[in-house]
Amino acid sequence: MRVIPIVPRGFCPGVVHAIRLVEQALKDPHTEKPIYVLGMIVHNRHVVDKLNAEGAIFLDDALKTKAEWIDSISSGTIIITAHGVAPHLVQRIHEKGLSLIDGTCRDVTRTHELIRNHLQLGFQIIYIGKRLHPESSAVCGIDPGIILVESEEDISNLMIPNPNIFVTNQTTFSQYDIQPILDAIGKQFTEAIIQNEICDSTRVRQQAITQFNHDVDLCYIVGDPKSNNTRNLAKVSAEVTQTNTIQIQSVADIDTRDLIGVETVSVSSGASTPPELTKAVIDFLTHYQGK
Ligand code: SF4
Repeated sequence: MRVIPIVPRGFCPGVVHAIRLVEQALKDPHTEKPIYVLGMIVHNRHVVDKLNAEGAIFLDDALKTKAEWIDSISSGTIIITAHGVAPHLVQRIHEKGLSLIDGTCRDVTRTHELIRNHLQLGFQIIYIGKRLHPESSAVCGIDPGIILVESEEDISNLMIPNPNIFVTNQTTFSQYDIQPILDAIGKQFTEAIIQNEICDSTRVRQQAITQFNHDVDLCYIVGDPKSNNTRNLAKVSAEVTQTNTIQIQSVADIDTRDLIGVETVSVSSGASTPPELTKAVIDFLTHYQGK
């Protein structure tokens, strides 16, 4: 069996930066303890469990809002994740006198700035993103008038009296899924200014799948089920390259029955997947060749 490790894959610069911030905060004697992380630092259970074992406390529970978490803390440092956070939550952290470390990815920050600048100029903002994803929630927290759309279907119902419309999007959106949405917006709002903000890391990982998945019988995408960019990579593999695709969290999820008759297998991983998890999958498949 031939194994094709797709490159680039795995950790992106934004994720590496956010993890490093947590590790530094835990080690730095001058950083106020305890160290809290507002949400999953990245959408990967292995990363979260490792940092948790080192002392980081993750405030991530569907039963509590981020504001409720902040209100429940009286001392220490709160780290904002790579996805960013709504401005009123930053304000709340300051009002409570807590220390704050901002781990927002610079690509996400740039999207926030673009939106703020266009709001100041009187534009109506349309944001293409996944409802309830932390990055979308943070953006929608910038201004209550921001319109969130997820699909082409959401566009036809839109009535926008403001002729000045600015359109941007979640950084980890699939470049293949976003195009029909952008086309629909361009058709309905011909004067709209569109700025596609899919980040380079997301884009090149998706493109690599389409470049490497030729004559491949099976493609494994390694990553957490909660990771939006991991799910999008699996979708690109399955729908764009029409390859039989299986999303797994680690080597333990490989069912060798899926390898029966497979001559070539490719492997990629989401931007939040630690390299050692993907390496274990590649090593296993390489070793499996003789069986
Ligand atoms: S996927 Fe892109 S936007 Fe998200 S953390 Fe990585 S580099 Fe930043």
